[in-house]
Amino acid sequence: MEQLAVSVKESIQSMESRIRLEEIRMLHGGMMFSILGTFAVSLIMFFVLYKHASSTLYLALWFGIMMLSSLLRGWDTYCFINASPDEQVKESWGTRFLIGSTFAGFWWGMLAWLGYSVENEYQTLIVVCIVGVAGGSLATLSYRWQTIVFFIMPALLLLELRLMLENSDFTQVLSYLLAVFILFALSTSRRAYKNSNQNVKLRIEADYNEKALREAKNEAEQANAAKSTFLSNMSHELRTPLHAILGYAQLLEHGDALSQKQSCNIGEIKHAGNLLLDLVNQILDLAGIEEGNLNISMASIALDEVLKECKSLVQPLADEKNIYVDITDTTIQVHADYIRLKQAILNLLTNGIKYNYNNGSVIIKCYHSDNNRVRIDVIDTGRGISREQQVLLFKPFSRLDPEGEIEGTGIGLSISRQLIEKMHGTIKVESDIGKGSTFSIELDSHLPEDDVTEDVVQCIDNNATIQSVKNKDNLKILVVEDSLPNLRMIEYQLEVLGYKADLATDGNEALQLFRNNHYGLIITDCNMPIMNGYELTSIIRNEDKSDIPIVALTADAFPEREEQCLAAGMNARLIKPMSLEVLNAAIDQWLSNTLPGKLPKSTRG
Ligand code: ADP
Repeated sequence: MEQLAVSVKESIQSMESRIRLEEIRMLHGGMMFSILGTFAVSLIMFFVLYKHASSTLYLALWFGIMMLSSLLRGWDTYCFINASPDEQVKESWGTRFLIGSTFAGFWWGMLAWLGYSVENEYQTLIVVCIVGVAGGSLATLSYRWQTIVFFIMPALLLLELRLMLENSDFTQVLSYLLAVFILFALSTSRRAYKNSNQNVKLRIEADYNEKALREAKNEAEQANAAKSTFLSNMSHELRTPLHAILGYAQLLEHGDALSQKQSCNIGEIKHAGNLLLDLVNQILDLAGIEEGNLNISMASIALDEVLKECKSLVQPLADEKNIYVDITDTTIQVHADYIRLKQAILNLLTNGIKYNYNNGSVIIKCYHSDNNRVRIDVIDTGRGISREQQVLLFKPFSRLDPEGEIEGTGIGLSISRQLIEKMHGTIKVESDIGKGSTFSIELDSHLPEDDVTEDVVQCIDNNATIQSVKNKDNLKILVVEDSLPNLRMIEYQLEVLGYKADLATDGNEALQLFRNNHYGLIITDCNMPIMNGYELTSIIRNEDKSDIPIVALTADAFPEREEQCLAAGMNARLIKPMSLEVLNAAIDQWLSNTLPGKLPKSTRG
């Protein structure tokens, strides 16, 4: 708190000194105009009054002093302009300017004394000249209240005094008029000062705000970059051991003679591992969306297809609680990204089941809403969500389940909302405690012509079911991985799938093996000591001109990494942890290109 007060005080002080600096800069900025004006008006007055002033000597003295004062003030301005910003802040500039203005004002007033003429016309001319100079100074000196007052007051008061000392009616009238003008000049200069001061303040405040905004933006960008590096590292660090945990658990499942208890234990390991994997994936999704790294591929999608797929995925979960899941048949087409829409609907359906009572129901209804958009309602008969909690619902990490007995991460709805918004849609909730909730997604029903993006990145579909390659005996796979447990695990996985493999722990070792053997496929880790997977691929592609399929196996799930893999010449990327099914699908996909008739250049002999 104290620190905050100090920083507020400091920023007020620095703002005030900026205002003072700005004022003095503007005063000096108008100096050139003042000097030229003074020079021209003094010269005219000198020549006009030359033959009519009571004393030519005094008039010449006045003219000389005016010239000298202009020169001194001009010199001061010259010094100010050439001073460094640090020096310009000094208070002494203001004091010197004030003294210079007072001096100039005094000598303008002295025109009425030193250039005095008995002739009424010339007296009037002097009055007009001094009043004009005072009026003109409002434009150049009103940036500081003291400066303008200390300039016009000596000039006008000396003139007033001179007029009052005259005994003629004419000068008396002039003196009354001048008195009125003095009051008028004071109030006008006050107003002019206030206006210009306000303008300066507003300009400086705008500068400050802009600077603060820029700094805040930079800080936010830096924090975001740090966050994404952290997430990328964290994802990598978590995926690597998860890869081993889930992979070995799956291999154990394939072993013989497991007792029921052992199978159960393995099931628990897989369940916990998958839960952790879910969390890692969701956090990555969230980070990707926040960074704007989410690729959305909009197309016209048959809702029926998405909903049926979702239903089949959640059915086992619904069966556990005997929850009835129903989807109304629909022919509606929606404008969305298939995968991302499926992800959002799946999240709503899973929540509808998770936060439901046993024997409850979850119904999905689709229809055209009033605004001609497509609406998907996910209606559950669960516990419901209070109004206060509804506000928090779509914020990341909001777990509203009071007992926390239901597994979850609290990120799903926040991701769903951002995905739907990315597809130009909306998502909202209506709920009654104890009665259930209705989550509604609204999307466009047609496909705008110019909004279709093609997903060009080639990747392995994790749900793909691909026919197995038949003649596995003729094909060998080269596996490159620096983590020994992971290397052994892939070897076992390949063994279970019926493939032979050679193993290497870095790119250099792999290169030697590649040059002396014949492989149908290379599966390589990306980050390894001595030679990483990208370098290995580049060398194979450039030196050997080989088109052997190379598939990356990495724990880094960020989209940029996929681009990096493809740019290095790899054919696809697999993300750790990877199930036997995914590995099998990937191998089938890439080995089928290397079967007889389609032999890659590296398959020599
Ligand atoms: P998760 O379910 O993984 O915790 P979500 O972001 O999907 O994360 O949901 C956030 C919270 O909102 C949940 O923890 C739950 O308390 C509440 N919630 C979501 N959907 C429902 C629902 N259909 N009925 C009751 N509560 C729900």
